Amino acid sequence: QKQEWAKLKDEPSVSKDGHHVELVANIGTPNDVEGVLNNGGEGVGLYRTEFLYMGKNELPTEDEQFDAYKSVLEQMGEKPVVVRTLDIGGDKELPYLELPEEMNPFLGFRAIRLCLERDDIFRTQLRALLRASTYGNLKIMFPMIATLDEFRQAKALLLEEKDKLTQEGTDVSDDIEIGIMVEIPSTAVIARQFAKEVDFFSIGTNDLIQYTLAADRMNERVSYLYQPYHPAILNLVHNVIEAAHAEGKWAGMCGEMAGDSIAIPILLALGLDEFSMSATSILPARTQIKDLSKEELASYKEQLLSMNTADDVEAFVREKTNQ
Ligand code: PEP
Ligand code: MG
Repeated sequence: QKQEWAKLKDEPSVSKDGHHVELVANIGTPNDVEGVLNNGGEGVGLYRTEFLYMGKNELPTEDEQFDAYKSVLEQMGEKPVVVRTLDIGGDKELPYLELPEEMNPFLGFRAIRLCLERDDIFRTQLRALLRASTYGNLKIMFPMIATLDEFRQAKALLLEEKDKLTQEGTDVSDDIEIGIMVEIPSTAVIARQFAKEVDFFSIGTNDLIQYTLAADRMNERVSYLYQPYHPAILNLVHNVIEAAHAEGKWAGMCGEMAGDSIAIPILLALGLDEFSMSATSILPARTQIKDLSKEELASYKEQLLSMNTADDVEAFVREKTNQ
């Protein structure tokens, strides 16, 4: 099986009936890039920048961040690299920020909420990203966007820092796509409105599932409710993809679901453009997609979306794809 995967390392990801999708990787540090390339990744779909901030006693400097972003972009060459801005809070703490304890950290002061209030921290990261942008194919995305206002504010700060850098005589790329993670139900529901303003969506199912089913992703007691194939999740994902396409934009997914062998046929049916997963899942996923007919799967779309339970969805997919 390993041999069959290896043969596909330098091949594009194409379904049996000739439809191309992008199979890209989630990374946490520049050291992960080698694994992405060795596993045939077509890009980086999620660079989690939290690691730059964790395991130390102070914030990373602009130059430290610049070096990390530049390293990833250079190693990836022309391939796209989606960098997510700081997503701290929730389960990821930064002790040196000395934030007050919260009753519900996952519903609290995290990610873009923190960045918009502590815009000193945010601007430093944005400057580092903008300076690195000329070294490759950079796309920037904001995490935990719940309202259009948050996106507009974050984008405005990005453009402000870009103007400053340009005035200082620093080169900044002119075609950086700016997107958002869709991981809060409110955003998935009004994806149509967002699609007019963002360049792309990346669906973060790890959080989207916990928020949609109100089941803490870290809590074993309620893990039975953490259901990726729940018809509500499929409908939200479908809504996001349709909204993106209606505006000529693309939709990806960077939650664990994107690399799951039951989810892949469903996501293909729903028209997902980009699948971002751990590097080691890429070749198995490419192998699986090669044997799937996107058009056949798409013919089951309405049926899947109107199913009653996650179990019904799973049983249907297993039957249709011999798993
Ligand atoms: C997600 O929520 O799906 C995601 C990719 O982000 P994280 O797992 O880092 O919260
Ligand atoms: Mg998330």
